[in-house]
Amino acid sequence: MNTESTGLKPCTRCGKPLPVTEFREIINKQTGKRRRHSWCNRCKGDYEAAKRAAKGPAFRKAEAARVLAYQSDPEIRARRSKRSSAQYRALASLRTRHAEEYHQLLTSQGGAYKATAVLRQRHREEYDNLYSSYLEQAGLTGG
Ligand SMILES: [Zn+2]
Repeated sequence: MNTESTGLKPCTRCGKPLPVTEFREIINKQTGKRRRHSWCNRCKGDYEAAKRAAKGPAFRKAEAARVLAYQSDPEIRARRSKRSSAQYRALASLRTRHAEEYHQLLTSQGGAYKATAVLRQRHREEYDNLYSSYLEQAGLTGG
């Protein structure tokens, strides 16, 4: 019994051969490559449940305290906003990318929005305009 002939994949945790659909799919955000988790859904679920149980109420309390600190501390907010400057840089790099390369990137990643998952909602309009103007230039607009 092997993967090719039966379509089954052995779980590296419980050892049971199972259909690949019983394994969670993992998509690499950078490359868009897909693979399956090496543990079956059940093993993964058991593991996550055990982890949650081990963390217990003390962990949840700490989480709640962290959220509260974030909501009330301006310094923490400022630190967080650095993340959005990274998003601006990502947008800038998309702008300077050659249109054709850009198109290939989008196609290979299965869609405009997947390629820009890093960008916030508010950049989407700008991004859409960039992309549609490229499609026009390249004569790719459907008609
Ligand atoms: Zn398993």
